[in-house]
Amino acid sequence: MRQIAIVGSGPAGYYTAEAAQKQWGDGVQVDIYDFLPVPYGLIRTGVAPDHQSIKAVSRRYEATSLSDNVCFIGNVLVGDDVSVEELRGFYDAVIFATGAPNDRELGLPGEDLANVFGSAAFVGWYNGHPHFASLDPDLSGETAVVIGAGNVALDVARIIAKTRGEFSGSDIVNHALDALDASGIERVVFVVRRGPHEIAMTPKELGELGHLHLASPVVDPADLPPEADDAALDPGQRKSVNLLRAFASLSDADRAGKHRRVEFDFFASPVAFLGQGKVEAVEVERTQLEDGRAVGTGETYTIPADIVIGCIGYRTSPVPGVPFDDRGGILANVEGRISDGLYCVGWARRGPSGTIGTNRPDGFAIVEKVAQDIGEGAGKAGFAGFEALAAERGVDFVEFHHWQNIDKAEIALARDDAPREKFVTMEAMMAAARG
Ligand SMILES: Cc1cc2nc3c(=O)[nH]c(=O)nc-3n(C[C@H](O)[C@H](O)[C@H](O)COP(=O)(O)OP(=O)(O)OC[C@H]3O[C@@H](n4cnc5c(N)ncnc54)[C@H](O)[C@@H]3O)c2cc1C
Repeated sequence: MRQIAIVGSGPAGYYTAEAAQKQWGDGVQVDIYDFLPVPYGLIRTGVAPDHQSIKAVSRRYEATSLSDNVCFIGNVLVGDDVSVEELRGFYDAVIFATGAPNDRELGLPGEDLANVFGSAAFVGWYNGHPHFASLDPDLSGETAVVIGAGNVALDVARIIAKTRGEFSGSDIVNHALDALDASGIERVVFVVRRGPHEIAMTPKELGELGHLHLASPVVDPADLPPEADDAALDPGQRKSVNLLRAFASLSDADRAGKHRRVEFDFFASPVAFLGQGKVEAVEVERTQLEDGRAVGTGETYTIPADIVIGCIGYRTSPVPGVPFDDRGGILANVEGRISDGLYCVGWARRGPSGTIGTNRPDGFAIVEKVAQDIGEGAGKAGFAGFEALAAERGVDFVEFHHWQNIDKAEIALARDDAPREKFVTMEAMMAAARG
């Protein structure tokens, strides 16, 4: 029997478990460890609460968890509760699917001012991640600046611009719903280094900005390249640019009743955050494109900002005992191999790119490599080894049926129009886990 440990229960972890089942059938036991007592990684704590259809992919992971040879083991921080070396002793292969949970920093003056956040923190706050549930952003001001031009920036801007009623059917946590409902934000500004042709916002998500109750998107027509140039874009990108063109042509009549604005400030690179203790403005340098790169022009201006959320990417957390690629912000690896018996997959391997589905081929590819390396397995102890160590050390781990208790309790606590009300502290999760 091959014994495989996967560290991280997000998409990459679950697709890897699925691949191991396909590869070895019942000749493998897969144990998926997570430091949270709840599974599914960013499906729960990253994907926007008003995108429930995307979160439905967790049903597939649930089916994997309920099969005989896959076990979820939560509330275990690998590298702390159990060392990598210890896991290596219990398993033929340890595969890190630990994602990229830390914000990449901009490295700008004033970044440590109050009310300047990274998207991991802000998204974690509205999605109830225990690390960020008490973030308490101050939304009393008028202007939010969102730095970035990808789908995470779009999520953040949309969530800020929505009304309470527009969260019907979502699982946004109560503390965020109430804070957003009381928010004074009337203006959200995307600060985007390059131009409309270079945005990484996908059309479906960008299109949602055109259908908000009280907010409408604002694009300066002068920022748009000549329409003929759109022909060179791939079809998806062309759709996004068409949407920007439609936003640029909205009239006052189209905006009737919509007093909130979601503005695109293209060709703009932040250079500093200004304020006394708390952020008050963002200093920005105008850019121009040279060979596709944004180059500063030397012209600067300031945008008033009561809150700033940087959405510029993520880095993996280093794990004690695992080599780290500091430049890439990932675990050091060659095509997923780290060292003898250690592997990585998903965002921990390649950084924060692609969609949920991109992690599936990643999972299958790593299992192929593990299969080449471990043969029939070395008769290791697997879960029994961990269980004995956990008992000795007092590690209070939970299993999938405990998550099912949490799940039921969250569903029971839901607002009338919500699928669940998440527990947002480890203590509350653990209490619900034990019934
Ligand atoms: C804000 C946001 C919105 C997104 N929205 C979409 C979307 O709408 N559609 C889409 O296709 N993609 C979306 N994505 C991308 C998608 O979420 C990722 O592709 C995917 O989650 C990456 O999977 P992963 O398993 O590598 O990492 P994660 O999902 O981050 O899973 C990592 C897991 O590892 C655990 N972990 C970390 N360190 C340890 C440790 N030391 N010990 C134990 N456990 C540990 C974490 O608790 C977590 O559960 C979004 C991403 C973000 C950030």
